[in-house]
This record gives sequence, C-alpha cells and structure tokens, in this order.
Amino acid sequence: MRVKRIMIVPTLLAVIAGGAAGGSLFAAVNDKKPTANVSNPGPDKADKIVKIVKTDAEWKKILPPDVYEITRKAGTEPAFSGKLLNNHQAGVYVCADCGLPIFSSKTKFHSGTGWPSFWAPINKDRIIERVDNSLPEQRTEVVCARCGAHLGHVFNDGPPPTHLRFCMNSLALKFIKRKQK
Ligand code: FE
Repeated sequence: MRVKRIMIVPTLLAVIAGGAAGGSLFAAVNDKKPTANVSNPGPDKADKIVKIVKTDAEWKKILPPDVYEITRKAGTEPAFSGKLLNNHQAGVYVCADCGLPIFSSKTKFHSGTGWPSFWAPINKDRIIERVDNSLPEQRTEVVCARCGAHLGHVFNDGPPPTHLRFCMNSLALKFIKRKQK
C-alpha cells in the first residue's frame, strides 16, 4: 500500500499542474488545487508525453488515405472542405493519428480562412513547432508532440489573448464531444 501511495501522488500533482498550465480541460481537478503559484506552475516534467514512433509504412497501413496524406505527407485539405470547420460543440480536438488532446473548443474561433482555427493548444507540450520553408514565405508548421502528425501551421494574426492562429486541417483532428463550463 505504501508503494502505491508514493506512485499516485506525483501523478496527481502532474495532472493538477497540467490543468493549471492548460487552463480549461482539467477545470474540475484545478478546483481542488492548493493555493500555489498558479500563474507560473513551472515545467510539467512528470506529465511528459511519451512519443509514438511508427514507420511510414505502418502509418499508411492504419490511417485512411486522406488522413495519411495530410498528417504523414504534410498535405493541406482544400479550404472550406473540412468537417470540423463549422463545428461549434463543446469538446476536445484530438490528434487524428494518436488521439492526443490538442485543442479545446474553448479556443476555437471563426477565422474566415476555411480551416478550423484555434488561438492556443490545450497545453504547449501538445505540439511541436517547426520551420517550414516549402513555400516562398516561411511558415511555422505544427505537429503532434506525441506522434509527429502534421496538423497545420500557426500564424501571428490570431485574436487575443495570444494573437496566434493555429490553422488546422480537419482531417488531422478528431472531435470528442464533452461537457464544459
Ligand atoms: Fe498524434
């Protein structure tokens, strides 16, 4: 029993810290947090994401062809074609390839670009940003931090509070309906 208790405490602390950093998804857990320095919870090492690594052939075998083209070949779906563009339900947007929660509906906004747009990920650790020089104008690619799936790009013309616009492919995300405050 003693060993189990030791294991549980760091996990619980990690969840609380993650909630403080991410803000919304773990609101219920957040409510129970001690009065710590919430504005600066510090690095969340205990909640470190474990990478999922597969070969290109393995991804091709398990993913629908249209998803594979976006997430594994850095494709872009046509504007206004995505099923999640006009989804306004409360819930969570997870990586289409590995299920990692990436965005909350709370940060989704209407950008008018034709692609689902968000002003922040659930937590910074959910994504990795990379320089993309595939077009004359340099862009910042956004990939899933766990499986490396190409999700879209991030631009600096979003709304407050971050002024970021995460321009995502519907095909790179799956929506999970959830009740939120
Ligand atoms: Fe993923």
